[in-house]
Amino acid sequence: MSYPIKIEKTTQSRINQVDLNRVAFGRTFTDHMFVADYVNGEWTNLEIKPVSDILIHPANLTLHYGQAIFEGMKAGKDKDGQPVLFRPEMNARRLNFSARRMCMAELPEELFLQALTTLVDLDADWIPENEDGALYIRPYMIAMDSFIGVAASETYRFLIFLMPVGPYYANPVNLWVERKFARAVKGGTGEAKAAGNYAGSLYPARLARQRGFDQLLWTDAIHHKWVEESGTMNVFFIIGDAAVTPSLDGSILHGITRDSVITLLKDKGYEVQERPVSVDELFKAYDKGILREAFGVGTAVVVIPFKSITDEDRVIELDPGSFQIAPMLKSELNAIKKGLIEDKFGWVHHVGVGVGS
Ligand SMILES: *Cc1c(COP(=O)(O)O)cnc(C)c1O
Repeated sequence: MSYPIKIEKTTQSRINQVDLNRVAFGRTFTDHMFVADYVNGEWTNLEIKPVSDILIHPANLTLHYGQAIFEGMKAGKDKDGQPVLFRPEMNARRLNFSARRMCMAELPEELFLQALTTLVDLDADWIPENEDGALYIRPYMIAMDSFIGVAASETYRFLIFLMPVGPYYANPVNLWVERKFARAVKGGTGEAKAAGNYAGSLYPARLARQRGFDQLLWTDAIHHKWVEESGTMNVFFIIGDAAVTPSLDGSILHGITRDSVITLLKDKGYEVQERPVSVDELFKAYDKGILREAFGVGTAVVVIPFKSITDEDRVIELDPGSFQIAPMLKSELNAIKKGLIEDKFGWVHHVGVGVGS
């Protein structure tokens, strides 16, 4: 089925004012956005139009009680210059997972995909062609009721806008093990991509930056013993011959890159262990000389090596230049997206009309 999306094209494209190969992450926007409203139990007013401000009432529920969820994904171009998305149906599904947790309206997956592909197709000229460049896509949903009372909104707005981006981090990162604050707790909202989770992470992240670190390594909220995530990345450790990543046990975001990395590693014959990993285990493995690599994975960074992990007065220092698996995963993922190697898992979604899936 096809949804009726009204399209109003800009008469003044801004694309010539932008150097697509030199954009700062998250500050440059393409010409168009998608907007839809959830009213009386259905999604209506489906529209693609020039990017503009949105009007909200001072009593808008989102501003007070935080019903807001988002997704993050990327569009690139394959070797033939065709725009491609990576596993977009996973984002559609996860948005609805987040919506259920935050008591918000769900969005039909087909509508998500149609809106996304129509918008990306329209603004495809904004996709940077350089190695690390891509169009970063931000689908999100907010509550729209104007009402002061802690209750679920009855109206919502879903939007998608696009940003040409370069690499998220230029260099390998230095981590601080967070043992006081928590990002998420089992039973909380950490598994949802809910806006408030990120607000709560800002202060601890600032303290870590003041101490000279790039990012936090979050530990579990109860014991501050088990490794969870780093910033907005899932984490992997190569211990001996095995790739180890914390199991998804209720407080960790279900990363699509994480899932893809696990699939790739298993396909290449690596042993992958999804299980609890303690900070102490990392230090013991490091002392024994078997902590070979540590890296973060996520849509924005793809794969980023960790250079050091500091836990109070002890430090793990790694040499990202010697890593084998992290760079292999990054180039493998990029090659699949570019169509340079076989897409054996069916991850690549062609955007252009009538092309592929
Ligand atoms: C988005 C996000 C990730 C990474 O998920 P991807 O689907 O791989 O982009 C990991 N952790 C957190 C907290 C996130 O918000």
